Amino acid sequence: MNYSSDNTKRAYFRMADLIPLAVIVLSVVLGVVFLLSPKDEKGLTAVVSVEGEVYTEVALDAVKEPYELTLHGDREAVLLISSDGVRFVTSDCPDKLCVNTGMISRSGQSAVCLPARVSVKLISSEESGGIDALSG
Ligand SMILES: [Zn+2]
Repeated sequence: MNYSSDNTKRAYFRMADLIPLAVIVLSVVLGVVFLLSPKDEKGLTAVVSVEGEVYTEVALDAVKEPYELTLHGDREAVLLISSDGVRFVTSDCPDKLCVNTGMISRSGQSAVCLPARVSVKLISSEESGGIDALSG
């Protein structure tokens, strides 16, 4: 009699133990997915070019407070650089296409002011490393 009641108790506990185990497994999987997925969007580098030459490269992760960067190409243009992305604030150009581009925040996006000959492109750090490997 005692044996059979013990067996049902054990079986019940095993079923109950599976639920927290499933929760742990699920949260670990979600945690890994969460850690892996934003990696593409992090580690962005803004490559700022003036008159066809790379003027500066800014790692957006390192930007704590947004700041303005004034560039003197054929015309004066002002970029706002923040950890979220980069945009033209103002430019001394007639079309204002650069300002209308708005903020770029993803790898591969770029904003260009043709009259000022100023451009900014976002690349991921991996791409940046690739470029270094090619040029060096
Ligand atoms: Zn412009």
